[in-house]
Amino acid sequence: MDKVKKIKVKSIAEEYGVTPKEIVSALQSQGVEVSNAASSVTEETLAHVKGYLEKVFNKTKAPASAPTPATKSTPAPATKSTPAQVSKKKPTSEKIKKAAPAKSHTHTKAPAPASAPAPAPAPAPAPAPAPAPAPAPVSEISGEVHIKTPIVVKTLGEAIGRRPNEIISKLMSMNILASINQALEPDIAIKVSESLGITLLVDRREKEEHIKHVQEEYQHAQEEEEKVKDKAHDLIARPPVVTFLGHVDHGKTSLQDKMRSTDIVGGEAGGITQHIGASVINANGRQITFIDTPGHEAFTQMRARGAKVTDIAILVVAADDGFMPQTIEALNHAKAAGVPIIVAVNKMDLPGANVDRILRQMQENGLMSEDWGGEIGAVRVSAKTGEGMNDLLERILLESEMLELKANPKRPAEGTVLEAQLEQGLGPTASVLVQNGTLHVGDAVLCGEYYGRVKAMIDARGARIKSAGPSTPVKLVGLSGAPAAGSVLTVCKSEKEAREMAEQLASASRETNLQRTSGATLEDLFSQIKIEQRNELRLVIKADVRGSAEAIVDALAKLPSDKIKVEVVMSGVGAIIENDVMLASASSAIVAGFHVRVNPGVNTLAKREKVEIRLYTIIYELIEDIKDAMTGRLAPEKREKPQGNAKILKIFSVSKGPKVCGCMVEHGYVRTGSKARVFRNNELIFNGEVASLRRFQDDVKEVRQGLECGIRLDNFMDFTEGDIINFYEIEIKKATL
Ligand code: GDP
Repeated sequence: MDKVKKIKVKSIAEEYGVTPKEIVSALQSQGVEVSNAASSVTEETLAHVKGYLEKVFNKTKAPASAPTPATKSTPAPATKSTPAQVSKKKPTSEKIKKAAPAKSHTHTKAPAPASAPAPAPAPAPAPAPAPAPAPAPVSEISGEVHIKTPIVVKTLGEAIGRRPNEIISKLMSMNILASINQALEPDIAIKVSESLGITLLVDRREKEEHIKHVQEEYQHAQEEEEKVKDKAHDLIARPPVVTFLGHVDHGKTSLQDKMRSTDIVGGEAGGITQHIGASVINANGRQITFIDTPGHEAFTQMRARGAKVTDIAILVVAADDGFMPQTIEALNHAKAAGVPIIVAVNKMDLPGANVDRILRQMQENGLMSEDWGGEIGAVRVSAKTGEGMNDLLERILLESEMLELKANPKRPAEGTVLEAQLEQGLGPTASVLVQNGTLHVGDAVLCGEYYGRVKAMIDARGARIKSAGPSTPVKLVGLSGAPAAGSVLTVCKSEKEAREMAEQLASASRETNLQRTSGATLEDLFSQIKIEQRNELRLVIKADVRGSAEAIVDALAKLPSDKIKVEVVMSGVGAIIENDVMLASASSAIVAGFHVRVNPGVNTLAKREKVEIRLYTIIYELIEDIKDAMTGRLAPEKREKPQGNAKILKIFSVSKGPKVCGCMVEHGYVRTGSKARVFRNNELIFNGEVASLRRFQDDVKEVRQGLECGIRLDNFMDFTEGDIINFYEIEIKKATL
């Protein structure tokens, strides 16, 4: 293979005097495919983007510069300086004005506290398209807009004059899945609005003001501490945190077990391994933390909560089996998380092992292996024989070196909950990955909606420990409840402060939960249409093979309808997983599966998210159903069907009630219940219904052309001889495509 000269991101970063992350973001914004410090670009590509890099990295140093992608940009200054713009409500007070900048400031830290200790920008929201500064982009509303909490996607859309879709997709680009009725954190709303050229001023409620106040104070204190303590010499390399992903049975568990058993230093000394959601091994004197599999469901769930716990993803592929649907899903999750990927080609001991096939499949899925001139390591291993274990460990260490993972063990701990449970005799326990700082027994902590004082800590080897530094997983005892996986742990000044914040967070989360109605079921589509005036049917499609998925998308595109639009939000291959449901929930879509199964737990999630999952075995059924769904979603058509007319010949007065008129049916027929319009000299004088119909003395249901009858119309007395009555009925037609 011809090797073109390539330059590593790391070297480019050095050249410009910025962090590799910044270079990655900048390159990505220019459409260059790089993912981390170890990625490289050809000289030719670099030459193309050189001008851009120079512009961005020289400018970023100047204060007035345009926001570069993924830098810690403070939103306000650029947009705020356009005062002439529409202000939706009159600005109320200075206090409110302060809210936006201050909050966006705290936001850069709040959701993922430990991920960026270095001077680098915070966890880099998905690369913003191109450098797109303030100049009012598309809509009529721009400038400052006030909004009250809670901020629901829909109301935000209304407030800033954007379609909820637009907001949802912006959120997705920030790795946040939200549905139209979901409440957003003010920081997020501010960020989204900012990306649309609008400065959002959040009028918080008092309670939230208070939360904000507490959080800000706390944050401020932390930052002060950080300033003092995060001196360069305090930042030390921290161990990498690694997650194994891949298809079931390809050997994720076996590989980890094998690595643990070859961990001579720790393995023998430790004793019984504790299940704490993660484990730690020593390799060549260096530590590596593994987040326990099973699987990418947990990984996805964490990511959905904004938690970033993994530094490196190992994609395990069995050499005899190759890429399977779950391999691709796992790969997509890893890609979406923006972490470096190492492919572990496992089961090399088997006779059916076929590495070339895997290298090809890697390429087909956008992973160019080093063997083929790319940069993704494809390490041949066998969990059974132990072959390649050292290579894998070395590769992990190499990738982690490239990432320059650093943390400051001297600061108060920050971490993420891996799992939590109630345990007999211990009460609530939480397995937490300490990501920065050091957690000590006795620390007052806030952990999701719960709080407490760390009474005891147990490490992955079951030993009781007094403190846990960066990248260390521990099980901690002493919380007031079991927080959800992905919750953030922070250390507070006192237990009282922790409790206060926990209570406020809990009530804020209750509020959010109340507003959570999302997804779509066929039943409620009609009412949704009425509410949203939306004539779109959105689908997430999963099929067993790519060919089917494509065929379905094609067939749907051919459905003839100008009344309703079918939009395929995503089509993919493999079982229906939680992510599909989250995606459907976020975009009010239905999940349609073709020859696929629903992964365990996904139905429960779907129920909670109010997402309908429909499963099919043949394409035709799916299309028919979708057609039905579409027609079900259209308002029924009302049509007037003419019946006949009659001429009034004579008026009969009866003792009480409306008059009866003697008529001759001239055309068609009349029935009791027919709608009737009375015309006099071609002018409409009454519109009503036939209340009763008589022939001679008998009540009848219908009278046909050429016959005389007595007609009484509801509430109409004012007949005159010679009036013409026109009869018709309203036909309700199920709308068709
Ligand atoms: P997971 O579902 O990905 O965690 O897969 P497991 O680790 O549970 O492995 C699935 C099966 O493959 C088990 O029966 C393992 O013994 C077997 N297995 C795992 N790795 C290897 C390997 O390198 N060689 C062979 N021959 N079998 C393996």
